[in-house]
Amino acid sequence: MITALVAESRAAGVIDRPVRVLNIMGHRAQESRERSNKPPFVHEPGRTCLCPDCHRARSQGCPPRGSVSNSRRHVDTWLPTQRVEHLENRVAVEEQRNAELAAFRVQAVSRLAAQYDEITRLRGALSSSSTVRGFVKPNEAAVVWPCNDGT
Ligand SMILES: [Zn+2]
Repeated sequence: MITALVAESRAAGVIDRPVRVLNIMGHRAQESRERSNKPPFVHEPGRTCLCPDCHRARSQGCPPRGSVSNSRRHVDTWLPTQRVEHLENRVAVEEQRNAELAAFRVQAVSRLAAQYDEITRLRGALSSSSTVRGFVKPNEAAVVWPCNDGT
């Protein structure tokens, strides 16, 4: 199929560069372990591919073993359903985190309200004349104990 598409494009006049092919597959990650490990987007390398990544691999002495891409075609594979599943998993994680943060916010506001009530109560007690406003230091305290000897 890819070969036929490339031949069609070259017949239509694309001869000055490799034909770019985006291979879109409907694989789902749940279908197999192999598919669940595949990234959502990959370049299909080739021994004679002209892209910078394949050129770099050749120059480092590790030429690509694949033959999907070559000097006439540059093939990438996109697994959009895996991307959607990946995004759905991320959304689920973020929703869980948001729920935890919302619960924390409710708890924090409750604690602030309780602290505000306590501060208001203490201010009211401080302004009241019937409450103790200070303490006497121990060395200044005059303790008078009743004496048993009559003095
Ligand atoms: Zn390449």
